[in-house]
Amino acid sequence: MARQAKDVAEKVKRGIRKQEIEALVRRLVSIPSHSEVPTKESEVAECLNEFLTDEGVRSKLRKVEKHRPNVVASVKGTTGRGKTLMLNGHTDTVPPYDMDIKPFSPKVAKGRLYGRGSLDMKGGLGAMAVAMVAIERAHIKLQGDLILTGVIGEEGRSEGMEDVVLNGPKADLAIVGEPTDLEIQPSHRGLEWLEVHLQGKAAHGGQANRGVNAISMAARFIDKVEKELLPRLASRSSAHTLPPTLNLGVIQGGQQPSSVADHCVIRIDRRWIPEESLDQVFQEIYEVFDSVKEEHPEFKAKLKRDMSNMKTMTHVPNVVSKSNPLVRSLENNVRAHTDKKPKLTSFWGWTDAALMTHFGKTPTVVFGPGGAGAHARVEYVNTNDLLACANVYASTALDICRPE
Ligand SMILES: [Zn+2]
Repeated sequence: MARQAKDVAEKVKRGIRKQEIEALVRRLVSIPSHSEVPTKESEVAECLNEFLTDEGVRSKLRKVEKHRPNVVASVKGTTGRGKTLMLNGHTDTVPPYDMDIKPFSPKVAKGRLYGRGSLDMKGGLGAMAVAMVAIERAHIKLQGDLILTGVIGEEGRSEGMEDVVLNGPKADLAIVGEPTDLEIQPSHRGLEWLEVHLQGKAAHGGQANRGVNAISMAARFIDKVEKELLPRLASRSSAHTLPPTLNLGVIQGGQQPSSVADHCVIRIDRRWIPEESLDQVFQEIYEVFDSVKEEHPEFKAKLKRDMSNMKTMTHVPNVVSKSNPLVRSLENNVRAHTDKKPKLTSFWGWTDAALMTHFGKTPTVVFGPGGAGAHARVEYVNTNDLLACANVYASTALDICRPE
């Protein structure tokens, strides 16, 4: 590294303090921002906006829905020639449900910061904000813009990320700070929710042979899925992601014990790989229908997409090349700022990164801290990872947006 670049990197690093990240993440965690809060994400967005503005970063709230603004902040590049990088995280969390810890009274103990959303993902978001502030404080002139977006609704319908994809700001590359245990995750599977509606014929339970039992049909369908479809999915692999999966998540049917069930619904979670298409996903379910029908001609089923987890954009897989400069930069910076070897893996979940890569045409990689208990009863983020992440985010921003 040239002397000058080294000086710049040192200057930025000095502006990143673990205590400050912890303090910000604690503030963010102490503000509930899940779907059952009347003010939704607004208070946490205001808190983040205030933190950035107080430090001299240009930041504003942009309303997406009532009480639900995104935070959009930037450190403007000077020449317009440099590449722009977006740091992104979601401001919502899942509700506390029955946590074994106080969800909104964050505590730090033995290198862990506990609370709802600490890991998923106010930790990553806080580290991103501090990285941005450190660059602002160092008074470095970047060539390209450094952008931060804190978006609503990732645990819902990704309303916030859809708004960024449609209305900007645009970036050349982006990082989503979901928890990856400091692994670099350029790709992940798509997520499709499906419903299978089984149509039976009602009759009295004492004369069951006059009806067609939708619950029995569901059982036959499930049997075929397990014997024919699941082994096929398990044998498939992807060059980019984990193998595809199908989970039978919900089953509901019938009215009461003495009636032949005339309706039954199975709700399915299907994680699809880049090598599959959505049409293929549907087609394979239809093939299961045909297979059941051959043995049971009375079998009647309909397949429906359940789009309640998306606004308008299909939850496609995320695919970014491992040779993308952003991936290379993250690798170098993980080597520089952590005691881990950089590891390229694939996220097991679905993230907003896919919308940015696919619909926004901005290659987006997932990278964030480690911890445990996302959506669970005890959730924490490792505080050493918060510091490591802030350093990696800041150094990567310098690599991509390049100081003059
Ligand atoms: Zn998340």
